[in-house]
Amino acid sequence: MTLRILVVGAGIAGLAAARALRLAGFRPDVVEELPATMLPGAGIYLPGNASRALRQLGLDAPLRPLGDLIFRQVFLDARGRELFEMDVAGLWAGVGESRALSRADLQQVLLTGVGGEVRYDTAVRDLEMFDGAAKVEFGDGSVAEYDLVVGADGRRSTIRAKAGLGGAADPTGQIVYRAVVTGGPPLSDWTALLGRRSSFVAMPMGGRKIYCYADETAPDSPNPEDPRARLRELFGTFGGPVPAILDAIEKVQVARTDEVVLESWSRGPVLLVGDAAHATAPTLAQGAAMSFEDAVVLGEELRAASGDVAAALRAYETRRRPRCEAVRDRTRERDRTRDVPPALRDPMLRRRGLRIFTEHYQPLVPPA
Ligand SMILES: Cc1cc2nc3c(=O)[nH]c(=O)nc-3n(C[C@H](O)[C@H](O)[C@H](O)COP(=O)(O)OP(=O)(O)OC[C@H]3O[C@@H](n4cnc5c(N)ncnc54)[C@H](O)[C@@H]3O)c2cc1C
Repeated sequence: MTLRILVVGAGIAGLAAARALRLAGFRPDVVEELPATMLPGAGIYLPGNASRALRQLGLDAPLRPLGDLIFRQVFLDARGRELFEMDVAGLWAGVGESRALSRADLQQVLLTGVGGEVRYDTAVRDLEMFDGAAKVEFGDGSVAEYDLVVGADGRRSTIRAKAGLGGAADPTGQIVYRAVVTGGPPLSDWTALLGRRSSFVAMPMGGRKIYCYADETAPDSPNPEDPRARLRELFGTFGGPVPAILDAIEKVQVARTDEVVLESWSRGPVLLVGDAAHATAPTLAQGAAMSFEDAVVLGEELRAASGDVAAALRAYETRRRPRCEAVRDRTRERDRTRDVPPALRDPMLRRRGLRIFTEHYQPLVPPA
């Protein structure tokens, strides 16, 4: 049976879902409210399970030449002294490579996966459900009917609100600073320095560039007016590679992170995937991996259900919930650990950090 499917949003989750649906034999429409010229800045870290899901989507070959492979994650205290290190190549052995790359490059790979077929400058404005189908109204006033609407429209999802699946996302209280640095110090490992309610992460991302990600817990402060100055204020006394990176930073992107926790991810013919369904703070760098896994499982379940959308969505949620909830719970745990005063936290991490942090990823080693 040919299902009429709409994917709303051409970010990571939407493009991955559209790819998986095409592989399963469907021809979804994909709409994106932004223009085609909008390319994401910054970098992204993809752990081994993200690579596995991209392989399942047949996108490992175009990914291979991009970015830098990450073999170790090194955790340091604020002065740059080692707390522990994780052998990520060992952790994800037989699963997939861990890689840091530019978001724009990842977006291009995902776009090739859908043959470039995205309708840009096209927002979904309204949605109405009736008799197992959905009537969708686009920004230009046009209307179309679909048997399945996949809401991949991010943490501030319109589809979530219109389908009555949930309200606004919950702020985590973190402010995040991201920069791509050229001409920084030599760096071969993913490296995190943990401060007092703040952390500074840097990793090589190919082309002799460093992707730098720093955060602070500051629920009640406004976003800083001068983010570079704020980075210096927060991390100016840090050791390791931080001073040389701070010197090389030119442009900083500032964001706040949110959590989305929902009782259900679908209603009638509407399903939420990616951040629209289960956004978390990016502490474990699992947002893209969860989106890719969502896509793989959606494709498999829709194909298996032979046109029974309701059965496919039920099976989908049963398979996806435990993994996404594990990521959310461990993210919260990691953020709580991060916010323990360093005098208590650092000795504990020296002793037990490797075991605790490895356990955070172990449930994700078996396939989705
Ligand atoms: C600071 C930060 C750092 C992160 N770092 C990592 C990392 O290193 N590794 C990792 O795996 N994850 C990371 N993540 C998480 C990851 O970026 C997300 O989980 C991932 O991008 C999935 O996003 P998405 O496609 O669901 O949503 P989005 O990326 O938000 O995409 C949603 C798309 O929908 C479009 N849209 C919205 N509304 C409409 C509408 N009404 N009609 C049409 N289109 C619409 C938007 O324009 C957008 O293009 C990070 C997140 C943040 C905030």
